[in-house]
Amino acid sequence: MKEHSALSTIYENICRDTGKQNESAKLIAVVRMLTLSMLIHSFVCCILVSLTGHTEALAFSLISPVLFLAIFVLSYRCGTFVSYCILNVCTLFWTVMNVYYFGWNIGIQHFLVVLLVFLFFSKYRHEAAKIIYCVFLFALRLILYYYCRSHEPIAVLDAGLSNALQTVNTFFIFLSLGLIAYLFSSTTQEMEGKLIEYNRKLMKQANTDTLTGLYNRRRTMEYLDSLLKNAESQISICLCDIDHFKRVNDTYGHDVGDVVLTTISDTFRKRLPPDTFISRWGGEEFLLIFPRLNGDEAGTALEILRQKIRDLVFDGGSEKFTISLTFGLVEYDFHSDITTLLKEADEKLYVGKENGRDRIVF
Ligand code: GH3
Ligand code: MG
Ligand code: MG
Repeated sequence: MKEHSALSTIYENICRDTGKQNESAKLIAVVRMLTLSMLIHSFVCCILVSLTGHTEALAFSLISPVLFLAIFVLSYRCGTFVSYCILNVCTLFWTVMNVYYFGWNIGIQHFLVVLLVFLFFSKYRHEAAKIIYCVFLFALRLILYYYCRSHEPIAVLDAGLSNALQTVNTFFIFLSLGLIAYLFSSTTQEMEGKLIEYNRKLMKQANTDTLTGLYNRRRTMEYLDSLLKNAESQISICLCDIDHFKRVNDTYGHDVGDVVLTTISDTFRKRLPPDTFISRWGGEEFLLIFPRLNGDEAGTALEILRQKIRDLVFDGGSEKFTISLTFGLVEYDFHSDITTLLKEADEKLYVGKENGRDRIVF
């Protein structure tokens, strides 16, 4: 438990942002973790070199921990971008100096690959600069290789130390690459997850009516368009409208009117066949689409619904009241367009209203 809290304190400190706005907290955390990893790496190398009693090489190696400690401290004073640049430039310079001093065999040149990966994972989007830097790193590595082939290193190490340094370098190169890939990919995955969720919410908002949760007119037109285009079985559509709804609002208030709208929407969801597409067409008008029912079948389902709505009792405060709906039902003839179909349903609804409401006209 204690160990966990100590670790989380260290992690929190590493992640501590620079306090500057619009800068990535994740990038500065990666800069600091990489710097720490390089710092530990430098210490290990110093210990290995000191074991061989190679004093000149040790004096040279001691520069590294000082350098990375300074970068680590600076990362708390400079902004993310500056810290990122300092780490890049210093690591580049440090790699070149180490290859020059110890030669090719200890494998330090692979840190150039770490820099390349770090560059492409960073959030900065200067594509041209990235490509130029990439070419530069490639050229630098080649130059170092050919230089090392024709020049002896300053410090000629015995095989044992050379192998030990090669092993340590390989370990820290893999560690650095792992850190970069792990930390940045976790951000990407997290962002992707958030984006998918956000898009889902946006889609829902764009397609549904906020009061009733039913599909809105926009989504309904989209659905109807694709349904009619790919029609394989019978389709029926029904336009329905609450009777004397204005009276409900005028008598019991707008809030009670809203309760009527949501209760009716729930009744639609509960009482209609599961594949019915239910939408709020306008104020107190609903469009119901039955994708696999002919007119008679849809009429039967609507009759059950009409009675269930008739049975609903609403609380108007001073008194209880009931409501009714009038339905205009049409069956798709496989060649009419959406406008004609809707107009036909609307005309039937009007006939129902004219003939006393609370009925289905087919
Ligand atoms: P009819 O039987 O002929 O359809 O009469 P009606 O009173 O239902 O029709 P009218 O078109 O005269 O009135 C519709 C009313 O629906 C008027 C409007 O204030 C109300 N309304 C529309 N949208 C909402 C809403 O979101 N909430 C509430 N509470 N009322 C709404
Ligand atoms: Mg009405
Ligand atoms: Mg109306």
